[in-house]
Amino acid sequence: MAELEGSDKKVILSAEAYKTIILYSTRYANSSIPKEQWREIYGILIGTSDENSVIIDRAEPMTYGESTDVELGPEHYGFISEIQDKLDSEGNNRYMVGWFHSHPGLGLFYSYVDIINQISFQAPNPDFVGLVFDHTFLLDKKKNPNHPGFDIYRLNDPQMNPDDSNFENNYHKVDFEIIGLNEFFFANILTELSAYAASGLPLQTAYNEDPSHAPRITTTEKQTAEIMEEAKEIMTGISQVKETDLISIPTSKQQTEPKIQQLEQLKYEGKLAFLSGDSITGTEKYDTVISSLEELGDEYSEKLLDVLQDVSELCYENNHDTLTIKYCNLLKDIGEKYGNLFYMANADLFIGNIILRKGDKQKGMETLQNAAILFEKAQDYAGVGQINHQIGHSYLEYRDFESVCRFYLEAIKAYNQAIHKFHPQRKSYWALPSTLQRTIGELKEQISRLVEEVQSSEARDYIKNSLTQI
Ligand SMILES: [Zn+2]
Repeated sequence: MAELEGSDKKVILSAEAYKTIILYSTRYANSSIPKEQWREIYGILIGTSDENSVIIDRAEPMTYGESTDVELGPEHYGFISEIQDKLDSEGNNRYMVGWFHSHPGLGLFYSYVDIINQISFQAPNPDFVGLVFDHTFLLDKKKNPNHPGFDIYRLNDPQMNPDDSNFENNYHKVDFEIIGLNEFFFANILTELSAYAASGLPLQTAYNEDPSHAPRITTTEKQTAEIMEEAKEIMTGISQVKETDLISIPTSKQQTEPKIQQLEQLKYEGKLAFLSGDSITGTEKYDTVISSLEELGDEYSEKLLDVLQDVSELCYENNHDTLTIKYCNLLKDIGEKYGNLFYMANADLFIGNIILRKGDKQKGMETLQNAAILFEKAQDYAGVGQINHQIGHSYLEYRDFESVCRFYLEAIKAYNQAIHKFHPQRKSYWALPSTLQRTIGELKEQISRLVEEVQSSEARDYIKNSLTQI
């Protein structure tokens, strides 16, 4: 055995980062997708460190993945350096402390390629860790009781030559703790997961009829009880694996964790109320969560924005226009306060659609175009594509085929970008690479059909030419 070299700092993983890893990994690999289509996902772990620990605050996913490990290439490193620049500009002493990827159904280990990938990170930064996640470990409770679904690794010797006969064993597990877990945390994750699974198919509805309107999620009381039961089981299992020692964690968050657990419970109850059609109880619960998070201050701003986005969407889907606008205005104000363009864009998307629904075409379109600009600045290309797609579609009704084609071309460009990079805050199931690819194909077909209806021959040539270049 090679001797351990360099860092032996343990890892403290925040529940938020864990949630991102679970949700993104299972979006590309879950029981509603045939196993041969499961894909790996990759991402970056961000945080800080002290003498004894590496603390992971959050996870930033990127989509480049295949069904087996891939060596990180220029597109990954491009993404990584963008994240690095963003962290530098934020200047709150957060940096890349690790990377993660998923092994859907493949098991937990480092492959030859994983070791190669880790060398470039760990050689300059001995604390750097790699997390491997396999969702089947989390869900198969008989085979892998009490397992959180991942392991964390470091290389024994980042300088070892890849030709060395022991190279494939050149890594070891790193001790870790997860902080901020509770059963409602898992209940919220499982509700989201079952929503993906339930809404995974009717993409035509999402795109062609009313692209802004996601299929309605319905949860029966029985499913709710099952979700809660499963959440409790996972939670009990994991807490047995790693006893969380909050005292040792160098963050001010420890005093507020019980409060957060309470809020997660309220959020869960609020969501269930909405899903069962009781929006009065739903808004009451969400309002309590919102005002409590506001009181907790800046540190919980991401959580607050996430909750506001959630309740805006629930109100929108239930056609409560006044409430949607109220929450969207708050979402926009708070998004602006914390410089979060993604949530500001979402607020405009909902508001724009409501204005359109009420019949004010011009103002509705302006608001949507503003949302597209914000999505573009936030680098959420799925959002940019969605809006261009929607605007293009609305020109069909005026038989303005040139505008339809031009907006569809813009949508294709944005969807292409979104295939390679998705926004960590985007939850929409329709933004999966395979779905985007299919949608691009459909848009191309529509453009080649509609372009023949365009009057100006110059515009026709331009559109046809652009179509061949995409
Ligand atoms: Zn791997």
